[in-house]
Amino acid sequence: MRILIIEDEHKVSNFIRQALEEEHYAVDQAFEGDEALALAEAYEYDLIILDLMLPKREGMDLLREVRKNGSKTPVLIVTAKDAIVDKVKALDSGGDDYLTKPFSIEEFLARVRALLRRGKMDRSGKLCAGDLALNPATREVIRGVRRIELTNKEYALLEYMIRNAGRILTRSMIAEHVWNVDFDTETNVIDVYVTHLRNKIDKGEGYRMIKTIRGVGYMLQG
Ligand code: CA
Repeated sequence: MRILIIEDEHKVSNFIRQALEEEHYAVDQAFEGDEALALAEAYEYDLIILDLMLPKREGMDLLREVRKNGSKTPVLIVTAKDAIVDKVKALDSGGDDYLTKPFSIEEFLARVRALLRRGKMDRSGKLCAGDLALNPATREVIRGVRRIELTNKEYALLEYMIRNAGRILTRSMIAEHVWNVDFDTETNVIDVYVTHLRNKIDKGEGYRMIKTIRGVGYMLQG
């Protein structure tokens, strides 16, 4: 899951970034509007954290611009403005949720999880594909009745794949969302990790969920 933080106060931005990185999200930072727009156009983010009071270009302007460009990325607005009118305006302009500063990091992370799993969870808050279930709150992974232990990177890879179940994921999409870097296309790091993950998820199962799309990448199918 790759997240963009748009916030001009470096201290706040770095604090949020650290909290998100501790949860193994890939994080980018933009400190003003034009930089933010360039990043939002260059990468397909899974979530944007947006501060409203920014220099040069206001956060609300930015939000409208991002939506105008067709982006459906969930946007969590984090700001010191706490008037109802500002909240309503922000949500009406395309924001998905709103958090007023100062906020507790626990609440912030819970809202991030809620926005990321929107539309893809079962009633208990788990992400599911076929008989595979992943719980983002506890990081527990279960296939059928079998509990699966994953490393942090394997977990991040599986979370990205299950959120995009049924969709072909190229190696560069996986690199961008899970590793936060653009790998040299010659590298086989992703293939190595997919093999590890496949050994844990599919080994001994009648149905193999992780498909290789020859020459393109991978797809998880439930
Ligand atoms: Ca600000």
